Amino acid sequence: MIYMDNNATTPIDPKVCEKMSQFLKEYFGNPSSLYPIGRKVKEIITEAREIIAKALGAKRTEIIFTGSGTEADNFSIRGVLDAYPEKNEFITSAIEHPAVIETAIYLEKKGMKVIYIPVDQHGIIDLDFLKDSITPQTALISIMHANNELGTIQPIETVVKIAKEKEVLVHTDAVQSFGKINVNVDKLGVDLLSISAHKIYGPKGIGALYIRKGTNILPLIYGGHQERQIRAGTENTAGIVGFGEAVQILLERGERDKKRIEKLADRLKKGIEEKIPKLKFNGHEKNRIKGTLNISFLGLEAEAILLALATKEIYVSTGSACSEGSEETSHVLSAIGLKPDVARSSIRMSLGRFNLEEDIDIVLCELPEMVEKLREISALDVDEY
Ligand SMILES: *Cc1c(COP(=O)(O)O)cnc(C)c1O
Repeated sequence: MIYMDNNATTPIDPKVCEKMSQFLKEYFGNPSSLYPIGRKVKEIITEAREIIAKALGAKRTEIIFTGSGTEADNFSIRGVLDAYPEKNEFITSAIEHPAVIETAIYLEKKGMKVIYIPVDQHGIIDLDFLKDSITPQTALISIMHANNELGTIQPIETVVKIAKEKEVLVHTDAVQSFGKINVNVDKLGVDLLSISAHKIYGPKGIGALYIRKGTNILPLIYGGHQERQIRAGTENTAGIVGFGEAVQILLERGERDKKRIEKLADRLKKGIEEKIPKLKFNGHEKNRIKGTLNISFLGLEAEAILLALATKEIYVSTGSACSEGSEETSHVLSAIGLKPDVARSSIRMSLGRFNLEEDIDIVLCELPEMVEKLREISALDVDEY
């Protein structure tokens, strides 16, 4: 099997798996219990929190575990807006993950004013538009760090600079950037930042939200006193342990992985460019997560390519996992100005830690022939584009 859909989810690292199963066998205590088997689990959670805080350049007390990256995004946006009932404006971008976009739509239905910052053809947000959109009513700006479909990296430091002049809080969805490029909360300057374990070779169903000390936020989930009483519910202890281990591995080998993945992706991109005509590469050439390739195969339906590749056990995506199977085209690809036909011809290949040189060889051998055959039988005329 050749797995090239690492932006949708990553295979769990064997060391994470080992650590979690050891933990599950030995420790069942509730971290809120005061006797030793509970206390021990609390200590183990604290260690994981410490590792994650270290990786982000944050303090341990600024990390809140959540049930997913999606929950971290929801919590951040709804929690901050709830804390500022006198303000009624929220600013985000046109290319956010559904975790943010759908939250924004919910807020609009509740009567909040939401502004979606447009992006250019490479997926970079319009900073002047952002500057002009901030008013005294703006409670929060949420702009993603790296886009899941294009890999495009946003100038978050500049967003923060603009926001701070007007004393507005900034959240960033760093689910896709964490583990692939440097993510440091002080360097970025953000007030809130979301991450998720299953995008970094950890388990599914566990995420975290960084909340800068002093930030006003109300809980999304009410209940017990867990997670500083702002995210109640008995902790997903094994998930937290796995998350901590996944981040520990990142700290140890992240840089090496990054270089290797970039080389592989570069070879894949060059090979595809050489062997297949009538392509369009989407996303920013330089400010991009290099392991993410988003390619329009003009004249074809992306789904046909995806299914043809799947018969060879090569797995890629048509973009956002959440929009897969629906007839709509990607909101990200339409935001960068792709015509619906071009958007529908686009596939995303995202490489990760476990991809090998030979994966690239095989794809470069199979894909050109596949595209040629599909184009022969395609009803669409490529020259129309
Ligand atoms: C995957 C992803 C999420 C959602 O994280 P989950 O843990 O799967 O809920 C949010 N934002 C981005 C950019 C993502 O890629």
